[in-house]
Amino acid sequence: MHKPTGTPRRRARRLGIAAALAWTLYVAPLPFAPAHAANHDNNVEWDGLFHDQGPLYDNHPEPTAAQAVTLTLRTYKYDATSINIKYYDSADGTFHWVAMAWTANDATGNFDDWQGTVPASASAKYYRFQINDGSATAWYNAAGTYAAEPSLGDFFILPGFKTPDWMKHGVIYQVFPDRFYNGSTANDVQSGQYTYAGCATEKHAWGSSVLPNVNGCNSAVFFGGDLAGLDQKLGYIKNTVGADILYLNPVFLSPTNHKYDTEDYMTVDPAFGSNATLQQLIASMHGTANGPQGYVILDGVFNHTGDTHAWFDRYHWWSATGAHESQSSAWYGWYTFQNWPNTYSGFFGIASMPKLDYGASGSAVRNAIYGSATSVVQAYLKSPYGIDGWRLDAAQYLDAGGNEGSDATNHQIMAELRRAVKAANANAGILGEFWGNAGPWTAGGKEWDSAMNYDGFMQPVSEWITGKDYNGNAAAIPASQFDSWLRGTRANYPANVQQSMSNALGSHDVTRFGYRAGGDLWKTHLALIFQMTYVGTPTVYYGDEYGMQGGADPDNRRTFDWSQGSTANSAVALTRKLTGIRNAYPALRTGSFLTLFTDDTNKLYAYGRLDAAHRIAVALNNDSTSHSITVPVWKMSVTNGSTVTELLSGTVHTVSNGSVTLTVNGHYGAILAQ
Ligand code: CA
Repeated sequence: MHKPTGTPRRRARRLGIAAALAWTLYVAPLPFAPAHAANHDNNVEWDGLFHDQGPLYDNHPEPTAAQAVTLTLRTYKYDATSINIKYYDSADGTFHWVAMAWTANDATGNFDDWQGTVPASASAKYYRFQINDGSATAWYNAAGTYAAEPSLGDFFILPGFKTPDWMKHGVIYQVFPDRFYNGSTANDVQSGQYTYAGCATEKHAWGSSVLPNVNGCNSAVFFGGDLAGLDQKLGYIKNTVGADILYLNPVFLSPTNHKYDTEDYMTVDPAFGSNATLQQLIASMHGTANGPQGYVILDGVFNHTGDTHAWFDRYHWWSATGAHESQSSAWYGWYTFQNWPNTYSGFFGIASMPKLDYGASGSAVRNAIYGSATSVVQAYLKSPYGIDGWRLDAAQYLDAGGNEGSDATNHQIMAELRRAVKAANANAGILGEFWGNAGPWTAGGKEWDSAMNYDGFMQPVSEWITGKDYNGNAAAIPASQFDSWLRGTRANYPANVQQSMSNALGSHDVTRFGYRAGGDLWKTHLALIFQMTYVGTPTVYYGDEYGMQGGADPDNRRTFDWSQGSTANSAVALTRKLTGIRNAYPALRTGSFLTLFTDDTNKLYAYGRLDAAHRIAVALNNDSTSHSITVPVWKMSVTNGSTVTELLSGTVHTVSNGSVTLTVNGHYGAILAQ
């Protein structure tokens, strides 16, 4: 066992300032003192411990191999006798110890800061803290505080791993293109225009039912939305919603409305426009004519193609000979046939979505999708398109030999894909689709920048606020469980991935938030306040900002109701205000996240976001009635007599007894900034 050390000089500095007097002052009952006054009493006060990789506690959250990382841990004042960083270095496969030194007290006199430095090197490292008070020891890492040393949940140091700043600092707007806005009726798919998989196309009027007239033909229903419509509505997206990143569901040639069965990756579907229309839309997003500079993420469906792709050509739509047409096809080996032609590997066995066989490194499929200069992935990252990132559909399943991925080959493919993306544009982003803990694709810093945060955002938010999971089934959780769920899932990811995770209330694959909320728009208000003040990239699925209704697929893909698409809708107005607040305060994007309290009885939750410039407390009321909430801002070292501004109302409050007390309406929140 390691024996804790502390130099006499360091101890002398801590206690040297008229130690006896300071001691007396400290134990005198401060009105906002911690419940247990800290002392050298062989008892580490867990409540006072705090560290994360925000700028106040980690001087290089994205270090290079040449940058040492200085870490700060906070305790209650006089609580600890010694503190150590214990880190695992992947270079030598062993643990190392760094003794921390006391450096400062906070402005309120409640806390001590201790610092230690992990030396620079290129290797990945993982760290936890050992906090000692005499004979007592506590351990602290990203996942929690422990009496016994933990083996999981350490903080990450991944030299050279950088996620794009525009993802950390942006707001995503996700659009299912057929359903957002019809900018050109000339390209609309008409009823009976073509038949695919036994379903004739159906043209439905905007605002009418998404259900098909013919059973089982969900994917054949078209409304006419297109890229020109998006281009015409960028002012709404950028200025009204306040989003600067556009994530589009698939836009490439495909016979279905969802286009997750690609027929040609290099051609924009004519119902959405043309390749030139896509270029125009990207240029408009990048430009500033309709609002701030923006970014575009396209949906890359690379696990499988559609069965109408020329490479496969099940229905003989192409003149070239596809794999389904002949075993002599140039593309025969691009798919996995168990018994040619009709038994082959498909996405979840779906025959219309034959899986690509990625083979080994350097294979023709890998080159076509991402490996060559003319590959799909690289072509759209470069001129004349210049997209800013790829969302990878069903990313865990990409594999060789018809296998279902999540194995060594899948990770090899993802690492190669990342290198190809970053070589084409070092500032491009990779957003993976995964529904659980996406740590296996992000924790090494070599594959994705971000993932769809079903696990660490959408599900807990839905269960706490609506009492239902994202599928609409009953699953209520109290505030304390909400908070611990959030901490646990943050711990799965390096801090720069946490800050880039795509945090949405809904998507094209789950029920609408407004539906789970039972049509109560106040729950959307509360969810928006949390979404825009939490760690990760807020992601607005078109219409969620006004409380759009809809059950499971395809009902979650209704047409946008433009009578609601303005600040006349209170939730849209709130969205606009919140994105403005988020943009104004870096602490809400890259600052620390500190739980202030949970109250299961009254359904209250409060947390802080802080950096060197600002301390922001967010108080949420998940009850249906208003509550008077006392927010303990002293936990963020906000001093008595100073003022904080509630950003939604503009009301100024003076801090007294270490806290601010205010009334918060049911299903609403307060954002107190200093
Ligand atoms: Ca159209």
